[in-house]
Amino acid sequence: MLQDKLGLIFGVANKRSIAWGISQALAGAGARLAFTYQERVGDTVKELASTLPGSVCIPCDVQKDEEIEAVFRQVEEEFGGLDILVHSVAFAPREALDGRLADTSRAAFHTALDISAYSLIPMARLAFPLMEKRGGGSIITMTYGASQRVVPKYNVMAVAKAALETIVRYLAFEGGEKNIRVNAISAGPVKTLAARGIAGFSKFEEHARKTAPLHRATEAAEVGDVALFLCSPMARGITGQVVYCDSGHSIMMMMAPDLE
Ligand code: NAD
Repeated sequence: MLQDKLGLIFGVANKRSIAWGISQALAGAGARLAFTYQERVGDTVKELASTLPGSVCIPCDVQKDEEIEAVFRQVEEEFGGLDILVHSVAFAPREALDGRLADTSRAAFHTALDISAYSLIPMARLAFPLMEKRGGGSIITMTYGASQRVVPKYNVMAVAKAALETIVRYLAFEGGEKNIRVNAISAGPVKTLAARGIAGFSKFEEHARKTAPLHRATEAAEVGDVALFLCSPMARGITGQVVYCDSGHSIMMMMAPDLE
């Protein structure tokens, strides 16, 4: 489905990363990929990328404009254009993911929103002209249902996800004219490095397993398949949406165990 397509992936840290699940699905469908990495996970990302022929690795801290710009310059040199952009990046200081939202410091708020929401804006700005060259493109970001309903301790990250989902709608509006689609995937709990930073994450997973209609937590490979669909011509009519891949967890209000 993605033969000859060119993709840029932000957010692989290790083999459990959702971005890696997405990368495997996209590469499996024929896409050639470039990866960005944070310095501390560089060796792991390069090792993973080496399993996908023709891939490229570029360092990037998304808090630095000049590093984001350098990534897109290198992608233009290597690929000439771009069809797919995956934004799978988030961070909040650990102390902001424990206790109350009411205690969030201004600095923690800035960091969380900067890395987890704002970063999609410069990426889209730089991706648009490269995608225009290819007649359009697909941008995907990762969100979580705590943006819509309260999940205790998700706190400032829920605020960042709400901002991110709004950014998706505005970028979809702005990219539409050039046939660039922008969507978010809202995943259920997946055991990853970022997830381990959230106090009581294993309870989220257990809760999803108990109460989601499909009675299981989410796997990165399932998210990868949704991303593949959203990047493919099959999804040519879908933009500005938040697509849930959460075993159905988000549809539940009253949980069966609550009634037992
Ligand atoms: P992960 O730890 O594998 O990925 C997070 C990535 O963010 C890492 O690659 C890390 O290097 C990157 N990152 C953080 N700060 C950065 C910075 N300043 N510059 C560049 N990169 C930076 O964890 P994941 O769970 O795969 O997270 C990917 C996305 O999926 C995040 O947006 C997360 O909120 C979202 N998500 C995760 C879950 C889950 O349960 N794991 C559920 C829904 C949504």
